[in-house]
Amino acid sequence: MKPAFLVAVLVCGVSQALPAQTPSGWRAHDLTRPRPPMVAPGQAAPPIVPPSDAIVLFDGTDVSAWRSEDGTPAGWVVRDGAMEAVPGAGFVFTRREFGDVQLHIEWAAPTPPKDTGQGRGNSGVFLMGKYELQVLDSYHNDTYPDGQAGAAYGQYPPLVNAALPPGQWQSYDIVFRRPRFAGNGVLVSPARLTALQNGILIQDDVTFWGPTDWLQVSPYVPGEVRGPIALQDHGNPVRFRNIWVRELPEGPPPPAPALPAAVPVKPAVLDGLVGSYANGGFVLVITRTPSGLTVTLPEGRAQALIPLSTTEFALGATAATLTATPGPDGNPARLTFRMGETEFSLTRVVDAPAGP
Ligand code: MG
Repeated sequence: MKPAFLVAVLVCGVSQALPAQTPSGWRAHDLTRPRPPMVAPGQAAPPIVPPSDAIVLFDGTDVSAWRSEDGTPAGWVVRDGAMEAVPGAGFVFTRREFGDVQLHIEWAAPTPPKDTGQGRGNSGVFLMGKYELQVLDSYHNDTYPDGQAGAAYGQYPPLVNAALPPGQWQSYDIVFRRPRFAGNGVLVSPARLTALQNGILIQDDVTFWGPTDWLQVSPYVPGEVRGPIALQDHGNPVRFRNIWVRELPEGPPPPAPALPAAVPVKPAVLDGLVGSYANGGFVLVITRTPSGLTVTLPEGRAQALIPLSTTEFALGATAATLTATPGPDGNPARLTFRMGETEFSLTRVVDAPAGP
């Protein structure tokens, strides 16, 4: 940034728009913030083949998934299997819009390195076009920690500095959850980010307090729940390759089916099941309770045993059944344990007669 411009911005009152304190307690871009420790990746970014349900955004040759801000074809160049930022060409945006995603992207900072701080190998991956995971040549290049590579820009420094030298391919693997708004526009849950750089965790489910911004803290805009993935032109010819995304299910997981209904059985039937049953070292114990039965599997906690008939019982917490086979006295002598394709028999353990 140019000092004169900064002064102009501050005079224009942007500084007054900043709250007294950010949610983290740190002022944006605070140079006194502790530097994340450097961790050397075990290897350079390996080429990861997109999985079968991925939407490939750049395969090394084709930039048709991308556009310029005004909708015209992306103005970046494709060279040697990479798309390269062209200074002055502007951001590039995916034509498609996304909400919750897993994103894989590989990037390389220019070499030999030029300039310092924010001027060295600067770009960025913007989720929904608004939430930047910073791209910067952070290999022995100091800057404010919330602006180094792997930072959720202006909000969260990376947990560690996992940078590789400029010119080497590096990877980001990102899980992004979009913000949720109620029907009245009230924020229900903020946008969240988890990210790995070169296989190393750098952001652990952090929550954005709004879109990322330079110098200021911006609020959420109600209703913005999808947007393009954008790559930043910050004046440096940063290269990208092997970009793919998986859309994540946004709805709640399907509800678990209700437990099977218990069939009324006589207390004598329940009493008759009480005891221990074994198949080798696998021993389960059935215990009576005031309302029914519990079963305890080896090294497990007691769980309900639900009568499906006088001889068949479902486990309450494990998707398994026990089927009783009566012995000469009419009480169960054996149980058959069934769970999926697993089936085996257990024999009632008869306690040794009490000594004299
Ligand atoms: Mg940037």
